[in-house]
Formats: sequence, C-alpha cells, structure tokens
Amino acid sequence: MSRFFSSRFASLEAYTPGEQPQDQSYTKLNTNESPYPPSPATVAAVTETELNKLNLYSDPTGRRLREALAELYGLQRENVILANGSDEILSFAFMAFADKETPVAFPAISYGFYPVYADLYGLEATKVPLLPDFSVDVEALAAAKGMIVIANPNAPTGIALSLDKIEYLLKSDRDRIVLVDEAYVDFGAESALPLLQKYDNLLIIRTYSKSRSMAGARLGFAFGSPEIIADLETIRYSTNPYNLDRLALLLGEAAVKDDGYYKRNCEKIAATRAAAEKRLKEMGFTMTPSTTNFLFVKHPAVSGETLYLGLKERGVLVRHFNKPLIQDYLRITVGTPEQMETLFAAIADMLSKTAPKGV
Ligand code: PMP
Repeated sequence: MSRFFSSRFASLEAYTPGEQPQDQSYTKLNTNESPYPPSPATVAAVTETELNKLNLYSDPTGRRLREALAELYGLQRENVILANGSDEILSFAFMAFADKETPVAFPAISYGFYPVYADLYGLEATKVPLLPDFSVDVEALAAAKGMIVIANPNAPTGIALSLDKIEYLLKSDRDRIVLVDEAYVDFGAESALPLLQKYDNLLIIRTYSKSRSMAGARLGFAFGSPEIIADLETIRYSTNPYNLDRLALLLGEAAVKDDGYYKRNCEKIAATRAAAEKRLKEMGFTMTPSTTNFLFVKHPAVSGETLYLGLKERGVLVRHFNKPLIQDYLRITVGTPEQMETLFAAIADMLSKTAPKGV
C-alpha cells in the first residue's frame, strides 16, 4: 500500500477472481464459463467495417441492444440497463441503493463480490447464515434491514429459490430493493421476471458471461422499474457513460437475435450436468441440487484442498473456496462431455492414489 492510498480503503479486501491461465493447457472448469463459443452469427457481427469505426465512441445509451433485450423479454427499453459485466451493475446498485441509513443483507455464503462492494462503499452488511441444507434462509433475510441481495440460483451452492420465496422477500418491505442476481438462471431455474410488473422494488441482474458464452466480452444487463433503472443510469453516467465498447454492443445484439443457439447450449449443459451428477455419485461424491452450469461437490474420503490440488496437478482446474463450512467442497463448472471425461479420469486416478482423509 502506498502512503497515498486513502485510509477509507485501508482494510478493504479486494475480490479474488478465479485463476485465468493464459496458456490453454488446463481443462478449465473453474470460472463457470460456457464451454461453447458464441454462435457463428454472433461472431460475424464484428465485421471489418465495424472494426474500422473504433475511432468513434460507442452509443452511450446502448439503445439498440436495450431494445433488443426488452423485446426478447417482453419489457420496455426503460426497464433495461447495460453494463460492463454484471459485476459493474452490482457495483452501481450497491452505490445507488445503500448508504449509512440503508444497510445491505445477503447470505453468508454467496457470490464473493457482495461483501467486497459492501466494504468498498462503507456499508453495514448483515451476512445471513445458510440453513443446514445450504439453502438460503429466507425468513432471516426478510427480517434483516436494508437492501436484500441474493444470487438465484445461489453461488457456489447452485441451489435455487422458488418464486414464492422471492415474492415473500419482495413483500417483506416494499420500501427496500430486493436485488436478484440471475447470473445462472438460464440453466434451469425460475426467473423473477414475472414479478417485475407487480413489484417496483425488484432489480434483476443478468449476464452474457455464462449462458451466452461471452465472459470475455464483459456484458451484463439488468431489469427493473423505469425509476430504478434511471437511478442506475445516473450512477453509470457519473462514472463511465461509455462503459460498453462498440464491439460488445454489436455482439450482444447479434446474440439476442440468435437466442435459439444459446438456449440449445443451455439444454446441452443441463444434460451434461445430469450425467456428471450420476458419475460423480458413483465415485462417492455428495452434492447440492444444482440448476446451474456448475456442481458443488464433496468427497467423504478426500479434503477439498487435496482434491483441488490433485486435479490441478492432473491438468484440471476447478474452484476451491478455503472458507468455513465449504472448505471440503469443490465447485466444478459443467464443461463439454469430453472435458467431463477428462475430469472423471483425473478424479479416478486421484482416488486410487490418495490416502483417505485424516490418515
Ligand atoms: N453474479 C454471480 C453470482 C457470479 O457468479 C458472477 C460470475 N463471477 C457474476 C455475477 C459476474 O459476472 P460478470 O461480471 O461476468 O457478468
């Protein structure tokens, strides 16, 4: 830390992203990317003509992409905001809707960026423990003060809440925002979108990084009432109005037009997930019920860290969180069937050689 760094941030613990090795030598199942590339029609949107327009700024209103998303999801353009990844919208929301008087509440085990944003903006945060089965404690969240932030399905557990639970949170105090981070919703959970007409305190955040195969393009979006979206736009225009570059906007629009391709990929991933669950259970793993593109698994004989390191040694990267309650779990992204075979072979090799836990 330099002597110039503001004392406000002296104890800030920054978010640690998953490993992103740049040499492609790993079977990469650690950051929940899609194993499939964007569709050919999406990639074709970045023509040489478009590249040659990079001397010009992008459209700060993102109008075309917002309209395309609004049409796809049955909304108005005023219900949609775009950002540089959904992380950026989360940042806008923590900045816009919480302060000294309005704290935030989120599950104690959830997406690791929530506590980071709470710290960054100096917010009081209630971290609500999960229930013993790792599901979100809706009653305790409803009883907490301030903005509620949940990932649905939750990460890294993969467990989804039903819509009536989300509605319960929305009703618990109609004068607070309930932010539902739907990064993984396209892989089989229910979206809170139908509740948007009824609840003006709902903010739904989505991303192109998972189901739309574009983690590298940094494209996130959110749905809310026109008033909530306008507040977020005020923050966006006060930080970086050109937060999306011309290419990301084009890619985003082309992907909306090719929605069927991405839906089919989600179906493929759900089928691979079901097959992987079966195989991993046969190898002795237990797991939470996932409606996402990842599995949260644990083996009775081998610690999470040993598994993580052993798999890495064998060229397979998965995510391990060295945190209380979940240190014996691995979060494994669902890849292609071939990538999963590589994973199973590495696990089988490890299990045949690893001494049981505690020995
Ligand atoms: N929310 C959740 C629950 C996530 O797991 C992620 C991915 N790390 C994000 C948001 C952020 O995604 P992105 O910024 O790539 O849109």
